Amino acid sequence: MAEQVQDLAPSTSEARGGSFLFEPVGARRFMTPEKFTDEQRQFFKTGDEFLKAEILPRAEKLEQKDNALLRELIGKAGEVGLLGVDIGEEYGGLALDKVTSMLVAESQAGGYAAWATTMGAQTGIGTLPIVFFGTPAQKAKYLPGFANGTLVAAYALSEAGSGSDALGAKTTARLSDDGKHYLVNGGKMWITNGGFADVYVVFIKAEPGGFTALIVERGTPGFSTGREEHKLGIRGSSTTPLIFEDCKVPASNVLGEIGKGHKIAFNILNVGRLKLAAFAIGGMKSSLRGGVEYALQRKQFGKSIAEFGLIREKIARAAAQTYATESMTYRAAGAIDERVGDMVQAEGRSVSPGQHMAAIEEYAIEASIMKISGSEWMFQVIDEMLQIHGGNGFVTDYPIERAYRDNRVNRIFEGTNEINRLLIPGMIFKRAMKGEMPLLEAVARLDAELSDPRHFPAPVGRLAAERRGAEMAKRQFLFAAKWAATLGPALEERQEVLAALADCAIEIYAMDSILGRTLESTGEIELRDALCRFFCMESRERAFDRARTALCAVLPADEVDAQLEQLALLHRYTPVNIAEVREQIVPAVLEANGYPLGY
Ligand SMILES: Cc1cc2nc3c(=O)[nH]c(=O)nc-3n(C[C@H](O)[C@H](O)[C@H](O)COP(=O)(O)OP(=O)(O)OC[C@H]3O[C@@H](n4cnc5c(N)ncnc54)[C@H](O)[C@@H]3O)c2cc1C
Repeated sequence: MAEQVQDLAPSTSEARGGSFLFEPVGARRFMTPEKFTDEQRQFFKTGDEFLKAEILPRAEKLEQKDNALLRELIGKAGEVGLLGVDIGEEYGGLALDKVTSMLVAESQAGGYAAWATTMGAQTGIGTLPIVFFGTPAQKAKYLPGFANGTLVAAYALSEAGSGSDALGAKTTARLSDDGKHYLVNGGKMWITNGGFADVYVVFIKAEPGGFTALIVERGTPGFSTGREEHKLGIRGSSTTPLIFEDCKVPASNVLGEIGKGHKIAFNILNVGRLKLAAFAIGGMKSSLRGGVEYALQRKQFGKSIAEFGLIREKIARAAAQTYATESMTYRAAGAIDERVGDMVQAEGRSVSPGQHMAAIEEYAIEASIMKISGSEWMFQVIDEMLQIHGGNGFVTDYPIERAYRDNRVNRIFEGTNEINRLLIPGMIFKRAMKGEMPLLEAVARLDAELSDPRHFPAPVGRLAAERRGAEMAKRQFLFAAKWAATLGPALEERQEVLAALADCAIEIYAMDSILGRTLESTGEIELRDALCRFFCMESRERAFDRARTALCAVLPADEVDAQLEQLALLHRYTPVNIAEVREQIVPAVLEANGYPLGY
């Protein structure tokens, strides 16, 4: 019997996006919250204090759609340095790493999602197109204002007729005969910060040229914004249509290359997706805090409901999901930073915006994973914390009611979760075909292992069962992916298979990240191990379920039984006792009045 965890495929020396699928758990060290620098922690603290002092006390007022107040608060956020993290120093920003950028995002999401959304548009999708694709003149004109909060930014891709199908945009921009300006006609929908932004990055069909990004300033003749949408949630954020009627935009406002707008639109969304996960961490922590506080004070049957097993299970699961989301998000952000750092070292100078963008794109699989898991697990946490509130969760007296409404949108914007689910296996297969991912080698190796199950990894020591679970989930993914690939080009139309593979990959990234982080950490070991065990216990079941779904959807009828038997070989283990693991988590959460591992 093998004693050590075996490689599915030899690790490449260079860290690559998606490598978690093929490399053994712990094969690489990565960024974790335990490794945050003092400076990074300080940024979180500054953001957290700002949120508590300036935003949360004004949430009720903002809910009444007070865009003037929102603008004022963006200015204040700029004054304390929360807007310039991703902007170069020469343009008034701080030029900090992605980890700090995510920490600032997380710090702004603890209790009022409408503000987090406003900040996401300002510091992420609104600002970054100009950071990465702007000319020096465009950067000099807009970035200092974005950094200090005197200019508000927005990103306008969606239209009434084209949301997911973003390239189907119908807004046109016809170049004038003298080539000096574009005449823009059409409209955009659901634009965050729409009602009060100063600068809009708008995606249009240039004539001639095709899909292109244009910078449009408020006040441009022919440009107006429609009425504020009446929304289910995030009512304190501004969401409006944009209207272009013979709107005359200088040709110098083209952002990036004509006809290459898709590069800007989609690459920027990768960062937006990661930031959404960082916001989700903040949302999960504040909801957990609310749920714990309520559970501790609410009495039924003569005791605090926090004493009941089912309530404690919800608390344990929420803490474990938060720990996982933290582990996954900061790992991805750290990986981008590392890639950028490696380029700087190799070239002996700072990287170009294009290189920076390429480093982000390398982790596009992780970004889509984070978009889905961040939004869905946060929603599960909020849903369960609302359940802890009973009837009080359903009325407006407690913040959890608003959190429930506010966070529903996260599955819709930044690419719907359906679209992101399709993207994940799409990117994996594409990279494998280009030889950038060792999918075929890993499948061949798995076939050899299956011929003699003694070759399966048998980790020993700390969290051995969970490590084995994660290693086997990787094999389940490979097994299902191998069969899915037999469909050839028809696979593209088999969304049920693609989504099941995506879900399996999400669980693998989660288990790999939570295990890698926990195995490296030295403090609070019992708690961390329990969080890890609780999460992996459920995650490996989900991974298996989704691998089996994918497999059953593609197998020829005469293969089903034999192949399911093979898959079952990859899922043999003794489940843990849920109550035992739960009780290694809940006392610490109750004691901390919320998530127990603060920064
Ligand atoms: C509050 C809010 C703020 C927003 N902010 C912005 C912003 O700042 N800038 C911006 O540009 N946009 C913004 N949006 C728009 C948002 O990005 C879109 O709503 C989103 O991309 C989905 O597009 P859609 O609404 O047209 O839905 P559709 O694309 O019509 O999708 C409807 C349903 O069909 C599914 N679907 C679509 N295509 C497929 C497919 N190929 N396979 C399987 N299922 C599919 C979707 O997943 C979804 O469930 C915002 C939206 C909201 C609600």
